[in-house]
Amino acid sequence: MSLKVIVIGGGIAGLCLAQGLKKAGIDVSVYEKGPRRADPHWLQGYQIHVNPNGAHLQECLPPALWAKLLNNACSPSAAFQVLTEQIKTIAVVEAEFMNGSSHVPIVRTALRQVLLEGLDDLVQFGKEFVRFEQTSSGRVAAIFSDGSAATGHVLVGADGTGSNVRKQYLPSARVIDTGIVGAACRLPIGVRTRSRVPDHLLTRLTCYAINLQVRSRARCGCNGQSSDLGFCVVACGVRLYRP
Ligand SMILES: Cc1cc2nc3c(=O)[nH]c(=O)nc-3n(C[C@H](O)[C@H](O)[C@H](O)COP(=O)(O)OP(=O)(O)OC[C@H]3O[C@@H](n4cnc5c(N)ncnc54)[C@H](O)[C@@H]3O)c2cc1C
Repeated sequence: MSLKVIVIGGGIAGLCLAQGLKKAGIDVSVYEKGPRRADPHWLQGYQIHVNPNGAHLQECLPPALWAKLLNNACSPSAAFQVLTEQIKTIAVVEAEFMNGSSHVPIVRTALRQVLLEGLDDLVQFGKEFVRFEQTSSGRVAAIFSDGSAATGHVLVGADGTGSNVRKQYLPSARVIDTGIVGAACRLPIGVRTRSRVPDHLLTRLTCYAINLQVRSRARCGCNGQSSDLGFCVVACGVRLYRP
C-alpha cells in the first residue's frame, strides 16, 4: 500500500513539502484555496530571504530547479537598517551578521513560480479546506467548501498562521496578537528619482519604524486595539521572475 499525503495550503511550506515528497517518490496532493494566478496573497510580491536553514530547501528540489531558484535570486542586501520616517538611523545590522554563511534573497512571486514547477498535476487551486474527518478505514478525509473531499493516510496543515487544520487538530493553540503591524512593498524607482535617493537606501534592506497608531481591525487585520509601533519594509535590488 503506497502512502498518500494530503497537504492543505500551497504557500512556501506546502509547495516545498510537495516538491520534496515528489522527489522521494511519495504520492502527494496539495489543496490551495486561492487561484493559481492573480492571487492577492502572492501579489504582495515582497522579497523573502532564504537563510542557511531554509537552504535545506535545496534537498527538496531537483538540481535544475534549485539552479533556477538561484538564477532568480536578487542581489544580497549590503546590510539591514532601521530608520525613522525622516531617514534618521536607528540601527544597522551589517551583512555578515544578517546573512551568516549564505542566504538567498528572492521575490516571493518568483519563489512561488519556481516551487510550482513540475507540480501541475499535484496542486489543486480554489480548494478551501473546511475540516477533516477520520474514516472507518483509518484514513483521513479533508472536506472542502465546495462539498468535495480528498482522502489520504497523512494530512499536513500548511495553511498558514490562521490554519483551519490547526484550529480543529489543536484547538487550544491560539495565535497571540502582539499589536505590532508591518507592511512591506516594492515600488519602481524611475531614473530621476533614483539619482535623488541616497545609495544606502538602494543597497540595504530598510525597515522604517513609523508611529502609525493603527486602530482599525478591518484595515490592519489585528485585534482593533491601538498599535504604537508600525513598520514598513522596503527591499532593494529585487528582480522579476526569469523563466
Ligand atoms: C513582512 C514579512 C517578511 C518576512 N520575511 C521573511 C524572510 O525574510 N524569511 C523567512 O524565512 N520568512 C519570512 N517571513 C515569514 C514567512 O513569510 C512565513 O513564515 C511563510 O510565508 C510561511 O509559509 P507558509 O507556507 O507556512 O504559510 P503561507 O505563506 O501563509 O501559506 C499558506 C497558504 O495556505 C493557503 N490557505 C490558507 N487557508 C487555507 C484553507 N482553509 N484551505 C486551503 N488553503 C488555505 C493560503 O492561501 C496560502 O497560500 C516574513 C513574513 C512577513 C509578514
